[in-house]
Amino acid sequence: MADYSSLFSMPSGPAYFDSAASSLTAKSVLDAMAAYYSNVRANVHRGAHRYARQASEQYEAVYGKLARFFNASEQEFAAVRNTTEALNAVALGLDWKSGDEVIVTDVEHHSNLLPWLRLKQKGVKVKVLEADEQGRLQADDLSELVSEKTRLFSFTACSNVLGASVPVVELSKAARDAGALVCVDAAQYVGHHAVDLTKWPVDFLAFSGHKCFGPTGIGALFHRKGSGLQPWFVGGGTVRDVTLSDYQLLEHRERFEAGTPAIAEWIGLGVALDFISKIGYPDIGAHDRALAEKMLSVLQDADGVQVFGPTTVAEKSCALFSFAIQGVPHHQAAVMLDELGFAVRSGHHCAIPLTRKLGVDGTVRASLHAYNDEKQVDKFADALEKVALLG
Ligand code: PMP
Repeated sequence: MADYSSLFSMPSGPAYFDSAASSLTAKSVLDAMAAYYSNVRANVHRGAHRYARQASEQYEAVYGKLARFFNASEQEFAAVRNTTEALNAVALGLDWKSGDEVIVTDVEHHSNLLPWLRLKQKGVKVKVLEADEQGRLQADDLSELVSEKTRLFSFTACSNVLGASVPVVELSKAARDAGALVCVDAAQYVGHHAVDLTKWPVDFLAFSGHKCFGPTGIGALFHRKGSGLQPWFVGGGTVRDVTLSDYQLLEHRERFEAGTPAIAEWIGLGVALDFISKIGYPDIGAHDRALAEKMLSVLQDADGVQVFGPTTVAEKSCALFSFAIQGVPHHQAAVMLDELGFAVRSGHHCAIPLTRKLGVDGTVRASLHAYNDEKQVDKFADALEKVALLG
C-alpha cells in the first residue's frame, strides 16, 4: 500500500478516521494559500496594480482547473462556501411554481434535504425515493416516482452514513427522461472518484474543498449551461451597469460572484484538484478499496458490532463505515476510541431521517482516506475489541 501521509498536514495525536466530516489538507494547498497571503495579498478584479493583477490571474486560473478536472466549461462553475451553500443556491436560484415537484432520497444529508423542504412554502411538493436496507438506490423505483410535474431530482453520489455506491448515471437518466433537472450532492464523492460531466447527465453538481484535501470555507457549484439558474446573491462584482432604480447583471460567471470571494481558499481548492490529479483517482481508489477490505473484515469479525450499509466492498463507494457497538452508546464509544488512538465520528451525521430508518439514535462512523494505512486498521481492531468488552 502506497504511503501518501507525508504529503499531508497530519495531526500528531490519534489516527484520523473522520475524513467524511473533513479530510486532512494537502501540504501543497497550505503552501499555495500561504504564498498568496505572503506574496500577493490583494483583492481580485478590482485594481490595476500588480498585486491585484497577480491575485486575479491566480484566482481566474482556478476556473480553468475546474473545467479541465470535471470536463465542463469555465462558465459553468460558481464559487461557493461549501456543498450546503451550493445546494441552497440551486433551490434559491430556480424559478419555482406551485405544484412543482422535487424528488430526494431518504439517505440524504440535511444539506440536501432542508433546501428542498423549505420550498414547500412556495407550494413545491417533495417526494422521496427510498433506498433499500443497505442504502442502495434503484433507477426503476425512481421511474415510478417521476411525473410531468417533477422539476428536479436531487440526490447524493455517496451517502455520508452508509457509503454505498450510487448508480449516478442511471438515476440521472431516469429523471432526465421525465424532463426533470438533476442535482448531485458530490460532497463525499469528489475526494474519491473522478467525475466526467460530459458523461454524467446532470444539471447541477455541488462539492466542498474541505472533503477533498482542500481548505474549509470553499466549494464549487457546477450549473450546466441552459439550466436557468439565477444568481442567489447580487452586489459588487456582478453588474454591468447600475442606476438608483435598476441594475443589469454581467452575462457570464461574474454574475455569480457577489462580493470579495474567499481568494486564498479558492486558490487552495485549485491546488487540491492538482494534487488529486497528481496522485490520480485510480491510485486513490485502489488505496480506498484496500482500506475498505481490511476495515470491513475487522468490523464484521468484531463481537457485538453491527455494521450498517453494504456488506461487500464491491458495493461501497469509499472506505466509510457506520456501525453500532452493542451496549455502548455511540458518543461514549467515540470518546473511548479517541483515548485508544482513533478519531472517529459519532451521532446522526446530519442525516436524522436515515438514522431513524436504521432504528438507532446515532452510529459510530470510521471514514478513511489516502493518508491512512492498513497498520492503523489492524490497531483499530484491538481498540474496537476493548470498547466492545464494555457492552
Ligand atoms: N452532503 C453530504 C453527503 C455530506 O457528507 C456533507 C458534509 N458532511 C454535506 C452534504 C455538507 O457539506 P458541507 O458541510 O461542506 O456544506
